Amino acid sequence: MRYKTFLLKYGEIALKGKNRHVFEDALVKQVRLSLKKTDGEFYVGKMQGRIYVDCEGEYDENEVIQALQRVFGLVGICPVVRFLREGYEKLSEDVLSYVKEKYGDRAFTFKVETRRALKTFPGNSMQISADLGGDILNVFPKTKVDIHKPEILLQVEIREDIYVYSEILKGAGGMPIGTGGRAMLLLSGGIDSPVAGYRIAKRGVEIEACYFHAPPYTTERAKQKVIDLAKILSRHIGRIKLYVVNFTDIQMTIYEKCPHNELTIIMRRYMMRIAEQFAIKDECLGLVTGESIGQVASQTMQSLLTTNAVCTLPVYRPLIGYDKSEIVEQAQEIDTFETSILPFEDCCTIFVAKHPVTKPMLKAIEKSEELIFQEMEAKAIEAIKTAEIIKIEM
Ligand code: ATP
Ligand code: MG
Repeated sequence: MRYKTFLLKYGEIALKGKNRHVFEDALVKQVRLSLKKTDGEFYVGKMQGRIYVDCEGEYDENEVIQALQRVFGLVGICPVVRFLREGYEKLSEDVLSYVKEKYGDRAFTFKVETRRALKTFPGNSMQISADLGGDILNVFPKTKVDIHKPEILLQVEIREDIYVYSEILKGAGGMPIGTGGRAMLLLSGGIDSPVAGYRIAKRGVEIEACYFHAPPYTTERAKQKVIDLAKILSRHIGRIKLYVVNFTDIQMTIYEKCPHNELTIIMRRYMMRIAEQFAIKDECLGLVTGESIGQVASQTMQSLLTTNAVCTLPVYRPLIGYDKSEIVEQAQEIDTFETSILPFEDCCTIFVAKHPVTKPMLKAIEKSEELIFQEMEAKAIEAIKTAEIIKIEM
């Protein structure tokens, strides 16, 4: 059986008035984008409050389904078989062949629902449903009608063609990218930050990213790993503008001049400061990190307060209440896990103190930073100026 159309279902709750168009247009755009790299010709359109994809040429159904299942904003994907429209006789024959091929000789309860979008087709929807139901009962005696809780809801739509479907595959949920503003993700090579970016993007937020590396202490392969992670993420969330910031000079200065137990916190504060500069320039409405309370010394409530203190934009931490195992599970689902666990050092793992403070006092940290404040200003400006920008496409 060849699926020629996919009918796409989206949550309707947030869709009142003008928002509906914004939402639908963003969704159509994302669906088109998601199929750009898939072989075949795809026509994505809106039709009476639904979005559908017509497939032509050489395409692989599973690939199409996989691409669609990554689009945020879709709650369900219905694979549709299309038949030529003639009269009732042909319609009934086709529906029976559909049932036979899809469900064979199984026993199941069902209900037929017909929609006559093409009003010139004879009969009315209720009658056609009843007639088709009768035909199915005759040909498949193990089946039963259940109009309240059918195991199989067979949907028949009469348009230019006849559309038949009975299956809804799960969509990614969330909101279409582009409906929720833009945010700057601090993307490391670890497990957490890609997942954090995914969670925020799922609410319709477009993502830019910022990676701090410290050559020669961190290798080219560590940077490549982050680029690879951004590429995997972009399969779900579309294009990502990635800033790669050379952090070596800043990090060395902190290492040489600040108390070692405060290294991580001060370093994190500089990361936030610099990321925020890019964010503001690109009209991002917030920063995003992969932090979760208590995971490491720099993620206690006190540490988060101290890092947060340098930001003027809101900092979103979608994983704040997640356990590591929950984050890992999600990383596996979105395919970033295997890449994240590749053993290339990032700058945080190289310049760590043996005994980091777990309860940094903001005043004390600010005092330590005073020692380097003046020289750091020029270094931060330089790091921003020399940042490499990599455009990652879906
Ligand atoms: P992750 O798995 O995301 O690296 P982590 O558990 O290793 O997180 P940290 O290393 O303390 O935690 O970093 C906390 C957050 O700070 C990360 O989730 C990320 O958002 C940001 N971050 C850390 N290192 C970098 C870096 N080199 N470049 C950009 N962002 C970073
Ligand atoms: Mg890390």
